[in-house]
Amino acid sequence: MRRISIFGATGSVGEQTVDLVARAGGPAAFHTVAVTGGQNVARLARIARDLRAEVAVTADPARLANLRAALDGSGIEAQAGPQALLDAADRPADWVMSAIVGAAGLAPGFRALRHGGILALANKESLVTAGKLLLAEAARHGARILPVDSEHSAIFQALGRDPVEAVERVILTASGGALRDWPLDRLAGAGVADACRHPNWAMGQRITVDSASMFNKAMEVIETREFFGIAPERIEVVIHRESVVHSMVAFQDGAVMAHMGSPDMRHAIGYALNWPRRERLPVAPLDLPALGRMSFEAPDEARYPALRICREVMRIRGRAGVVFNAAKEVALDHFLAGRIGFMAMSGVVERTLERISSDFRLESDAPDLDEVLAADALARIRADEIARAVSGGTAGRSEQKAG
Ligand code: NDP
Repeated sequence: MRRISIFGATGSVGEQTVDLVARAGGPAAFHTVAVTGGQNVARLARIARDLRAEVAVTADPARLANLRAALDGSGIEAQAGPQALLDAADRPADWVMSAIVGAAGLAPGFRALRHGGILALANKESLVTAGKLLLAEAARHGARILPVDSEHSAIFQALGRDPVEAVERVILTASGGALRDWPLDRLAGAGVADACRHPNWAMGQRITVDSASMFNKAMEVIETREFFGIAPERIEVVIHRESVVHSMVAFQDGAVMAHMGSPDMRHAIGYALNWPRRERLPVAPLDLPALGRMSFEAPDEARYPALRICREVMRIRGRAGVVFNAAKEVALDHFLAGRIGFMAMSGVVERTLERISSDFRLESDAPDLDEVLAADALARIRADEIARAVSGGTAGRSEQKAG
């Protein structure tokens, strides 16, 4: 029986993974080793019971007693804290879903590669912050990383057996997010609720706001560069409002292979779960006549400065990805807390990238995961200082306007 673990099981990707595992037979078809969550221990306990997991881990030690109580009588171990997450990753599994949100997902996913199985990677931060190290670790242990981000799953499938050298360009599709039709001069005043109304996809709050700012797409451009080894100038972003083309690969002979389907993450999660086979999935069939038409537009970088910043990050490489991600997460925290405006987020990220070069050389690679985490921690401090200055001072107001 296949041994599986689900990191971030209580989240949007995690719960959809649990749903697919349950539909495929649950405990009768899979041995669930570990399931993990953060704040939501009631949900975590329910998932652990449904899948009859060996262990359930909450990232928050203050919630261990609640988790224990919720698992009472089940025989399932309850653990808590960052070390417990790593211990869970040390338990051998053939298939591991990495769906913790943010840089916190990096270390457990990295650790799980040691078993030489499959790492289904939804946590895009892992590739943006430590792509080279992650791929080297996978190669060292004979493990395989399967992309779960829908765009990268689409590219993976569209590539098929063709070598990356045959690729002319990769076209990443983007819905444009919740604010795509807002007038440019109103964007600075957009609030959290506005940025959370995604037109097509139902996702976690953080990634939904990142879609509106296209920081999510910027992360995916870097992810494409890191995972597939495609040169930055060959990666294009187009706005595709209908979200039925999940991404495309244009080959040197002029052929363009598009991956299409309804906007449902279970396409990509299910593909990674069943790979290399294809199984029936509970996703709505694509009804082309009902869809009627599809549209494609070039994105405006004045509206989405993140797309410009990610080009600079890929030019620098080294530790620029980890700084970019950390600064983006901190800027997002400040936006969600109502302390900075929507367009100020990109200013915080850009200024953190500039400021951090006085702490260390951005261009130099991090030699190991500890260095990545150290760069991440320092970038968060710098980004926080910058965001606080933006929220408090005159500089903040002008920065919000400049976006
Ligand atoms: P959610 O916010 O919905 O879920 C995140 C999961 O991580 C939850 O289980 C949460 O626990 C847990 N978690 C939060 N903070 C920590 C922490 N510090 N340590 C350990 N666990 C933590 O996120 P999504 O499911 O939307 O996204 C997960 C990842 O997948 C992200 O990297 C995202 O970019 C990527 N992704 C998501 C897509 C989507 O459709 N949602 C699409 C493509 C990629 P709890 O909720 O219990 O606090």
